[in-house]
Amino acid sequence: MADILLIFPRVGYGDLFIKDPPLALLYASSIAVKDGFTVKIVDQRNCYKNWKQIIEDELKAKPMIAGLSVMTGRPIHYAIEISKFIKQLAPKTAIVWGGHHPTILPENTLDNPFIDFLIRGAGSIPLAALAETLRNSNDAFDDIPGLSYKKNQKLIHNQDIISYEKVPFQEIPYHLVDMNSYHRLGNKNIFVIMTSFGCPHDCSFCYAPLIYRNRRWAADSPQRTVDHMQMAINRFKVDSFSIIDDNFFVDMKRAKDIFEMIKEKRWKVSFQLRGVRIDDLDRMNDEMLLLMEDVNVRHIMIGAESASDRILKLMNKKITINQIIRVSRKLVKYPKIVPMYNLLTGIPGEVLSDMKKTVDLMRQLVKENPCCEISMLEHFLPLPGTKLFTIAKEKGFSEPQTLETWSKFESETRADHYPWLTNKQRRYIRIMQVASLFIDNKIKREIKIKRFEIGMLVLFSYLYRFIARFRVKFHISVLPAEYYMLRCFNRLIEKMTNLDFIHKKR
Ligand code: SF4
Repeated sequence: MADILLIFPRVGYGDLFIKDPPLALLYASSIAVKDGFTVKIVDQRNCYKNWKQIIEDELKAKPMIAGLSVMTGRPIHYAIEISKFIKQLAPKTAIVWGGHHPTILPENTLDNPFIDFLIRGAGSIPLAALAETLRNSNDAFDDIPGLSYKKNQKLIHNQDIISYEKVPFQEIPYHLVDMNSYHRLGNKNIFVIMTSFGCPHDCSFCYAPLIYRNRRWAADSPQRTVDHMQMAINRFKVDSFSIIDDNFFVDMKRAKDIFEMIKEKRWKVSFQLRGVRIDDLDRMNDEMLLLMEDVNVRHIMIGAESASDRILKLMNKKITINQIIRVSRKLVKYPKIVPMYNLLTGIPGEVLSDMKKTVDLMRQLVKENPCCEISMLEHFLPLPGTKLFTIAKEKGFSEPQTLETWSKFESETRADHYPWLTNKQRRYIRIMQVASLFIDNKIKREIKIKRFEIGMLVLFSYLYRFIARFRVKFHISVLPAEYYMLRCFNRLIEKMTNLDFIHKKR
């Protein structure tokens, strides 16, 4: 039974495809664990059917704190449900929200009766300090950096804290979760790792400059990174790593040193990398790319974002369409590395011709490199505090005013809220988002989940691919039946899915 109960809420239907360990909670609890508090983590994605019973049992020990890590969108819906449930059963337990959403929108979040505290930014120091303060039964909260709370009906926000965790990997309490219960697309032998935090760039749509102030980037040394990986291999018998840094290649020498050290180790593991910039790939030489092939970098997620130079400029992405094409052609020479391109649409100021250019780019990328993959064409999300949020407001966007409305702000339906889009553009975006899922081979190649619903999805992807390619080639968006079918499929998955099937031991 715990002093501190930490809960990771469901994300939604996406839990079926990707379920990473709750790193935010593991990092946040590290100092509290070291200080001798008992901490329990409940991952709602692992107990969707009986989460109420599990939490009720934990509450019998009267934990001082129930902390939730909350991201924008659907997770808010589940976080509200959990928080209200706890408030009802254990009104004396302090409910603490942390994570990206509360950090970006502290006022809007804390102004809810079922939330007592917020932690903005990195959670480990404030969580341990809050637990200590509550244990001593005093209310000297004003010394705790990064904490927001209510006092005399006012919302108080203490000074900011450093926005990234400085926790040695030896102190990350992995024992608090069942590492066997996580997977990416059905691969359970994968270890998700962050080797750096933040990003020195300032893209106008991105959360990183908001969370990591002053465009900070902090990274583990190559030795520490490789030691962390060695620990994962020894302890969890992993065969692949997913590096989920915001921007891995900021320091190219560091990246090269890491790969060289890995090469010396002769591990039989593969790597996926998120957060790869086009300009970094553009400046990479053959030696570096061959080294990456050598150490089995199998998948890189690349932020291409748009095929309109005007929109790329609006996004402050500091890349050009010519660079995107050049990089794509360069990567054809390294077929062991599968590039996955992220593309974004629905930006304020984007017109139909810009959208069509992005869709043409999708097609060109797949045509020129049949190994490449297109991540689902993402709908723009106006995050408060970003430059594009200000532009969206100028164009008539009215931001959600409550947590409940933020929880309904999902990728498939976001475009409905944007006044700068015409109905024709919305229909085009929706149908091209569906088509982007099926124009390449990613569903068959990447998803290893053995389940009836996934079998149906793979079959559908075979049948539908021809229609998807036809729609993309001729920009046809009439009769968007597949958009509604996919929405129903997603909702069905979210309702039906008992994710326990994936918890088998490695
Ligand atoms: S989009 Fe990528 S490069 Fe741009 S600020 Fe965000 S993390 Fe950095």
